[in-house]
Order: sequence, then C-alpha cells, then structure tokens
Amino acid sequence: MTAAKAEWRDLTPYRPTTRICRVNLGDNTNLFGMPPSAERVLREAGVDSVARYPESYAPGLKRAVATYAGVAPENVTTGCGSDDVIDSVLRALSAPGEAVAFSDPTFVMVPVFARVNGLRPAPVPLRADCSLDVTGLLATGARVIYVCAPNNPTGTAVSRASLEALVAQAPGVVLIDEAYAEFSSSGGFLDLARSCHNVLVTRTMSKAFGLAGMRVGWAVGSAELVAEVEKARGPYKHAAMAEAMSIAALSEDVPWMRAQAETAIANRERFREALQGMGLRALDSDANFLLVPLRGAMRVAERMRDMGVNVRAFQGLAGLGDALRVSVGPWPLLEEALAALREALPCE
Ligand code: PMP
Repeated sequence: MTAAKAEWRDLTPYRPTTRICRVNLGDNTNLFGMPPSAERVLREAGVDSVARYPESYAPGLKRAVATYAGVAPENVTTGCGSDDVIDSVLRALSAPGEAVAFSDPTFVMVPVFARVNGLRPAPVPLRADCSLDVTGLLATGARVIYVCAPNNPTGTAVSRASLEALVAQAPGVVLIDEAYAEFSSSGGFLDLARSCHNVLVTRTMSKAFGLAGMRVGWAVGSAELVAEVEKARGPYKHAAMAEAMSIAALSEDVPWMRAQAETAIANRERFREALQGMGLRALDSDANFLLVPLRGAMRVAERMRDMGVNVRAFQGLAGLGDALRVSVGPWPLLEEALAALREALPCE
C-alpha cells in the first residue's frame, strides 16, 4: 500500500539544476538588490511583529497594490508569491478534470499547478515567431487560458492585438501572468484587468521589486473574479514582515524599481550585442533575461557553473531545442557571464 496518488507518481518537486555560485543569473530576480524602504522596515521591525497573526486577507497590502495598479482594493487578491496566486486561480475557476490551456514553452509550473488541482494541462505550441496561437488556445475549450506576458522562458513579448482577440473570444477567464511586466516596453496589460470581466493579471514582488525571498505576489481583476479566487486562497498567506516590506516598496520605491528596470533593459541589449559578437543569437526579449538557443546547453551551463556562474539551461524546448536563459543585472556580472560562456562553448 502506498500513500502516493497514482496520478501524481511522475510529479517531482521543482528543483532547477543550480549550485551556489559567485554569480547567479539563473532566476531572473533583481540583481541590484532590495528596495531601500523595504530594507528600512526590515531593520526597524520589533519582535512584536512576529508573535501575532497579520490581518487576514492582507487588507493593508491590498490597498498598496490597488494604488499602484490603479484599481480598488476589492479588485486585488494577494498570495505567497505569484506561484500561489496562479495555483489559487486555477483551483478557484476550474472544475476537476477540466483543461487549462497555455502556450508551450511557458512558465514550467503551470502544468504542475494544473495537475495538483486535478486539472488537465492543454499545451499549445507557440508559433514559429514565438507569438500566441490564439486559434489553438481557443480550440482547447479551456475555461482558464494562461498567458505569460512577457513569456518565460522565451522572454518574448505578447502582442496586444493577440491578447485582445483571445480575451474577446475566450469561453472563460484569461489569466495573464505579468511577472516581468515592469521590464516590458508595452507597460503591461493591467488595463485589460480593469476593463474586462474575464481577465485576471498576476504580478509579483519577486522580480523588478527585488523581494523574491519575501514571497509576495498579487492579482488584479473584477471584484467577482477576485472574490472567487479568495475562496481558494486561505486567510494567512503572508508573513507579517513580507507584507510590511511589500507595502513600503509599493508606496515609496516605485521610482527605485523603475530605475533598476531601466538599467537592466539597457544592459540586456548590450549583452545581446556581446553575444552576437560570439556568434550567438538571443531571442528578442521584453523581460530581464535573454534566451539563447544553443545545442548542448546543459553541458555549457554545467561548465559555466564550474567557473562560478549559474545560468538556467533548458533541454528540448518546443520549437526551439536546447537553450540557455541568462538573467540580466549589473554589467560586471554580465561580463563574468560572457567570460565563462566564451570558455564553456564547445569548439566547433
Ligand atoms: N510567473 C513566472 C513567469 C515566473 O517566471 C515566476 C518565477 N519564476 C513566477 C510566476 C512565480 O514567481 P513568484 O512566485 O516569486 O511571484
């Protein structure tokens, strides 16, 4: 007799190949550090903030997000990272056995969250130019269609026209994951969450806002959708400290966040040119990372780790093959990555 569910036997915990490295360009976090206001809150926190529960359903954090996103607090739900928000959305808005549609490749946790909630992953290949296959996504009949914009791991932008066509024809909800929106030239799609009853947009404090260790994410949508998601969420999803630091960052450090994002974008394009000089072609990126299709990427990443530089390698991505994904940050780190990559590339 085993305690394992037969349906889960092949599921394994998320453990990207990584090693503690001097330079970590593997997880697309803010390599410039944390917002000064959040650091102040952390340093000034007293022991009292630890012994009691925070307020249930994080009303203070919702107010700060609402101001940032230009909505009312009833249009906001929050969670333990946007991972948790996505998980709650799938659980809240689909019945067991239903399909969840998403492009392939996209954020690797989406099919996992679908399966652990008793749902059926319905991957639809990205088109050759990495754009959305709107017809293919709609053809799944899924009541929740997930779109990552900009997409991880490709970094590619999602066009407004394709998203609007999808939203207009979707039989249910379009869940737009904007973990990287602050780096996007489009500025994101929060306006769709404000104006369309069937759109939820998730964002995170983990990337541009530099608070990945605090595990805070949020979603914006109609009050009706948000109320459904909150039923799946549970009352106490944040550590009080994480909530207080996120409120400070959203209220005081948006200019800090924008300045770091601008530098990351400039460095991304400089890094792309340097890669080109090495004969490598990164995909166009609207995020804080570049995806570089490269045969044998797993071996190259392993050699780079030996030299103290961690990047993320993918094997056999749909339509793209093997690839390295490199987060962008301060230029000196990228210089180290370039030097390690140059050494690690196989001589042809
Ligand atoms: N969505 C995407 C596209 C991501 O890349 C990530 C982080 N890897 C997440 C969501 C989850 O981030 P978090 O839970 O830290 O908010």
